[in-house]
Amino acid sequence: MVRKIITFPAEILTKPTKRVEDFNTEIREIIKDMFDTMYSAEGVGLAANQIGIPLSILVIDTTPKEEAPNLRLVFINPRILNQEGRIKYKEGCLSFPGLSVEVERFKRVEVSALNEKTEEFRVILEDFPAVVFQHEYDHLQGITFIDRLKGWRKRLALERYKKILKERLRS
Ligand code: ZN
Repeated sequence: MVRKIITFPAEILTKPTKRVEDFNTEIREIIKDMFDTMYSAEGVGLAANQIGIPLSILVIDTTPKEEAPNLRLVFINPRILNQEGRIKYKEGCLSFPGLSVEVERFKRVEVSALNEKTEEFRVILEDFPAVVFQHEYDHLQGITFIDRLKGWRKRLALERYKKILKERLRS
């Protein structure tokens, strides 16, 4: 089921999510809905709090990005084990429709998490998939991509986003 994507500013996007402790059928539903919602919005990643569920679950699917490997992954309670290198990438966010900003992140991350079968796995992500993962991982900590900008860059991005919101209300 496609759910409504929560947009900024909404409190749930600024609060850390909780670890998943109880693996019931509801969790499977949530994951399915996250993929449905992400595909419907033509995104490549989504965090559970973006659809109003404050749990530590994120999904990515980098298939639409041509030069990136086709990775479709579910991360429950993800942890970053290692991170290295730097990469700058112009990112968008489904919770900030219309806004894109250049963010600097780690080029390579090693992650451990549970998959949708609640099995523990480890994966090394590089370049685009690493960027997408870190963007969504930030969401789970209550951090959005504009929080990764400093000083005037952040103020400028917020002003641009406010303008976008105003124009949306008008049309
Ligand atoms: Zn986002």
